[in-house]
Amino acid sequence: MNQSKPVSEANVPSIRVGVSSCLLGQEVRYDGGHSRDRYVADTLAEHFALVPVCPEAELGMGTPRETVRLHGDDLARPRMIGSLSATDWTSGMNRFAATRIQQLGSENLCGYVFKKNSPSCGVFRVKVYRDKGMPQRKGRGLFASAFAQRYPLVPLEEEGRLQDSGLRENFVERVFALHRLQQVFTGRWKRSELMTFHANEKYLLMAHDPQGLKYLGQLVGQVKQHTPAQFRDQYMVAFMAIMARTATVPKHVNALQHVAGHLRGLVSSPAREKILAVIAEFKQGYVPLIVPMTLIQHYIELHDVPYVNRQTYLTPHPRELKLRNHA
Ligand code: SF4
Repeated sequence: MNQSKPVSEANVPSIRVGVSSCLLGQEVRYDGGHSRDRYVADTLAEHFALVPVCPEAELGMGTPRETVRLHGDDLARPRMIGSLSATDWTSGMNRFAATRIQQLGSENLCGYVFKKNSPSCGVFRVKVYRDKGMPQRKGRGLFASAFAQRYPLVPLEEEGRLQDSGLRENFVERVFALHRLQQVFTGRWKRSELMTFHANEKYLLMAHDPQGLKYLGQLVGQVKQHTPAQFRDQYMVAFMAIMARTATVPKHVNALQHVAGHLRGLVSSPAREKILAVIAEFKQGYVPLIVPMTLIQHYIELHDVPYVNRQTYLTPHPRELKLRNHA
């Protein structure tokens, strides 16, 4: 049996994720409606404690209200302007964001799902109206922008991008990763616990960024040269940067082959050939990642290989999310 699966029934509900309120079906949009997203409101809500925020409603802009747009030539500092009245909401929204985002610090958020295209909540490619010329889709909503600056380690996504299976898997994987980091570095953390944690993350990190894994290993080797706070900050930044890199098929194949290497001498030749054949099928795109992973996990548990059995790579998120079932 796997004694220390990283995703336990006990810890999942405690993971808190911020969300634009309208995505949960709250009627807070400018027109009094909502933008309920089934994946967020149904699936993610089963696994995370969602923390809803509607910046515009909470600021007191009223519901319903006139629409607002981002304006200006400085894409990093656009202004939020009412479409009809030309009311400038920029200072009000920035002040609100500073206070609300400070409050969110006590929630220990491990992720945030924002509403796409919103001048308050959009993270990627929000439309900005230039003083002259065509609008550009290069902006970021004011609230989302302030949140990203204050909490750079927290993974951010938009509900639209979560339709993409690869982006969805990467986002959820990072949410669980940040939660594990928060747990290991809570209070006066011990070096021995850090060593165990790092060892258990090896193959997951390898699947995202083998070079980054090497760097992180060197950092761990120098742990005594840093203050605990310095080390924690450096380790967390590097860890989350590695996790943000896409775990491509070739990188998974490399990690799977390393994991399968632990079975050398334990399984029969036909079983080993079968494992390698299934990894090859995954490489060619004939089967999803869950197939070689399940086969390897079967033999790891059968032959009781504790070091590999403790790897978060085997189960970095609940199986019910089916994030490894896509081709
Ligand atoms: S996108 Fe953001 S500001 Fe707009 S209704 Fe949804 S939560 Fe409120």
